[in-house]
Amino acid sequence: MTAPVLRMVGVSQQYGAGELAVSALSGIDLEVSPGELVAVMGASGSGKSTLLSIAGGLQTPTSGEVVIDGSHLSTASPNELAALRRRSVGFVFQDYNLVPTLTAMENVTLPLELDGVSRRAVRRAGKDALSLVGLADRGDAYPDDLSGGQQQRVAIARAIIGGRRLILADEPTGALDSVTGELVMRTMRGRIDSGAAGILVTHEARHAAWADRIVYLRDGRIVDETRRDAAESMLAVRA
Ligand code: ADP
Ligand code: MG
Repeated sequence: MTAPVLRMVGVSQQYGAGELAVSALSGIDLEVSPGELVAVMGASGSGKSTLLSIAGGLQTPTSGEVVIDGSHLSTASPNELAALRRRSVGFVFQDYNLVPTLTAMENVTLPLELDGVSRRAVRRAGKDALSLVGLADRGDAYPDDLSGGQQQRVAIARAIIGGRRLILADEPTGALDSVTGELVMRTMRGRIDSGAAGILVTHEARHAAWADRIVYLRDGRIVDETRRDAAESMLAVRA
């Protein structure tokens, strides 16, 4: 068996203290392997965004352990953690989170630039990533010049650039028309089929249908899990 890209063991998150304390996650155990896409579903407030942000090392849990590609986040220094996030983790958020003063190309290649990758390699990777999302000719455009759908395509290109191993998406299709939503899912699925691991937070069954496994969160706990067999998902989604 291949080692999981992501391993969460007994992860809990509490916000606040005393009587006001909110238990956002309780004892989450979750592994995601290369080639696997896990969808996370659950009501608003069930802990989905917290789970994603802890999985990607944006947030340190109150207790429990997160391991990405063999690196234990709890023992990583701030610098190591930042480098791991840049190299290994791609995030996509509902509201795109692009830097408004950077072009599409600059947004997409930012993680590689920060990592000191050579200018030529950066440029090539940026072109490849923008081509994948059908924006090869919009590299010089600024986010304001792009539609919402185009901005989300830039965001997904940024998430997959440089062979990232863990793609984390928090309701990435929420504000998109269905055609763009499909394109975002297809791009994410493509990267995962070539070896990444992914988590997709979504409310929409038709997008969860792209996943290999769906976990259901309620009040910060995984209360159910379903595995889709390949045939079923082929019929349901890609028909
Ligand atoms: P979801 O993404 O499923 O809507 P969240 O992870 O955003 O759930 O939130 C889970 C719970 O934690 C909610 O009760 C929310 O109000 C609370 N919460 C989330 N972030 C914070 C925070 N920074 N401070 C305090 N409470 C928070
Ligand atoms: Mg959320």
